[in-house]
Amino acid sequence: MAFTLAALPYAYEALEPHIDTETMKIHHDKHHQAYVDNLNKAIAGTPNENKSLDELVKNAGSISPAVRNNGGGHWNHSFFWDSLSANAGGAPSGKLAEAINSAFGSFETFKEKFAAAGATRFGSGWAWLIVSDGKLQVSSTPNQDNPLMDVAEVKGTPILGVDVWEHAYYLKYQNKRPAYLEAIWNVINWKKVAERFEAA
Ligand code: MN
Repeated sequence: MAFTLAALPYAYEALEPHIDTETMKIHHDKHHQAYVDNLNKAIAGTPNENKSLDELVKNAGSISPAVRNNGGGHWNHSFFWDSLSANAGGAPSGKLAEAINSAFGSFETFKEKFAAAGATRFGSGWAWLIVSDGKLQVSSTPNQDNPLMDVAEVKGTPILGVDVWEHAYYLKYQNKRPAYLEAIWNVINWKKVAERFEAA
């Protein structure tokens, strides 16, 4: 069964001015579409054709680089779009806010740690907030890897993921990845992140 690319859960311009329309169009319609297309090509006619995306990702260590990179790309981007929203941002509340305070000391400290994880990831990759052994943790992964993968350095259940590939920010922020990572707080969908936290 071939994988398909879902439409964005909001308009391309919904995250302006923090994430620009052009970036969203290219990122979703070109980059994410290419991960889906290349994943389908890589699994066609193989036993992986019948596996779910979660199964593929969890067994990243025993699948081909093409399936790992493009399967991860499809998983990560689908998760990323749902992590963002218009009229979002602010701070989390309820149990998630309590867990963030307990793990990091404060929401501000968490944001600093998360931004540092994204800024110091050399080359392309992702910054994550994960639940690992019942505790919140910040981590990062290279390329299109994610914390669900058996090959991840820090494993856990992601509840927030931010793309730090240049294609995610270059049109608006050029080389200023930290500026992108500062702006992204304005569009984080904390309601969605809290739902994931409760489910983890
Ligand atoms: Mn991307």
